Amino acid sequence: MTIAIYPGSFDPITNGHLDILKSGSEIFDKVIIAVSYNINKTGFLTVDERIDLIKKSVAHLKNVEIDFFNGLTAEYAKNKGANILLRGLRTSCDFEYELQLSQTNNALNDELKTVFLIAKPEYSFISSSMVKEIFYSNGDISKFVPSSVYEYLKSKHDI
Ligand code: ADP
Repeated sequence: MTIAIYPGSFDPITNGHLDILKSGSEIFDKVIIAVSYNINKTGFLTVDERIDLIKKSVAHLKNVEIDFFNGLTAEYAKNKGANILLRGLRTSCDFEYELQLSQTNNALNDELKTVFLIAKPEYSFISSSMVKEIFYSNGDISKFVPSSVYEYLKSKHDI
């Protein structure tokens, strides 16, 4: 059984993340989408909020599990019995960063291989930080995020 970990901040999950996750779930037996968080940094959403929104967005993907972790991805993957890291590539900037990350993770855990999936052109400009900026400026984020994320963030604005 091939288990892949899809780690990220997912603050919040976007349609771009979802597309990579869906493709990964067609390739691997099981994909664990794992929210990585830093105890010293507060995000836009709490880990619980991010997990809750991921749960609502991936309910249709049967071989996807949701989890969270703090610390080294390489260690987390080992503990989960996973030897694949799933990551998405949007631009050459992503590539530069991801290359270093992949080689570091492999140096820490030599069983761990990174598989990259290329973003679809219609998602390649979407990032969580772009969604946050549009949200703070009262713009329409409905095209960029799953409907549950849209509804939740809209309700936060209304409060
Ligand atoms: P991190 O904080 O680790 O960069 P993110 O939540 O921003 O986590 O992203 C997790 C993974 O998803 C990364 O590999 C990132 O490149 C990829 N990703 C993010 N947005 C998109 C997108 N729009 N299309 C495809 N892949 C994406």
